[in-house]
Amino acid sequence: MPETSEPLRITVLGSGTSVGVPTLGCDCEVCRSEDPRDKRMRPSVLLTYAGKNVLIDTTPDFRSQALRAGIMALDAVLYTHAHADHIMGLDDIRPYNFRQRSSIPIFGAPETLDAIRRSFSYIFHVGVTQTSVPRIETHTIDGAPFELFGQNFIPVPLMHGDSRIYGFRFGAAAYLTDHSEVPGETLDQLHGLDVLFLEALRRRPHPTHSTLERSLRYVERIAPSRAFFTHICHDLGHARTEELLPPHVRLAYDGLEISVRKRAG
Ligand SMILES: [Zn+2]
Ligand SMILES: [Zn+2]
Ligand SMILES: [Zn+2]
Repeated sequence: MPETSEPLRITVLGSGTSVGVPTLGCDCEVCRSEDPRDKRMRPSVLLTYAGKNVLIDTTPDFRSQALRAGIMALDAVLYTHAHADHIMGLDDIRPYNFRQRSSIPIFGAPETLDAIRRSFSYIFHVGVTQTSVPRIETHTIDGAPFELFGQNFIPVPLMHGDSRIYGFRFGAAAYLTDHSEVPGETLDQLHGLDVLFLEALRRRPHPTHSTLERSLRYVERIAPSRAFFTHICHDLGHARTEELLPPHVRLAYDGLEISVRKRAG
């Protein structure tokens, strides 16, 4: 019997690069744009399935993003890597700890969890404290698939300059942020996607990030039904950039919601 499971919903909480768009101190056309799709918070998505909310990365904008998306509960956080634009909102999970009366599991590569321990040393301080700190439960991931609330997740490696970070494949979707290269072993794990989220920072080359042109080439190779670019800087205005893209490739924008099959095939 075919599974009649309800789909997995992806909500884009932030589609911007590390400094966000508008960018502080900038008055370029995109930073002054009145198109709401040009207002980009730091990069993150929320996955909702089986009545659970799973977050990918806790950005410095997490509180605003959670308010906007109406996130009433948080069940787990997956980390791609420990750059500031991906982790700095971790402290803002505390209200969910209070409401849920439980700690929240977080998942990351060993080096990502180490960096979180250094950046948020007060969370891991042993002993009595008079203030509240986030209550988390750390889970180490390597390249091995793991299951979370009945959904299979495959951490897929990406090269982000010299660092190896993780993207995630889940069912018929994948979310790949910061990268300068998608290794061959990862391309092999991305067949049959309904939806691919992929970083495309800007047009000019960057040592640790992907360009529009390079990401378009990856979309061609991976051949998902649809692709959305994310982690976008102020060089790319939403409307103008989309005019130049093939119809199945769009720019993500904050608030975008997409439903995908929980299982591929
Ligand atoms: Zn980033
Ligand atoms: Zn600007
Ligand atoms: Zn990064």
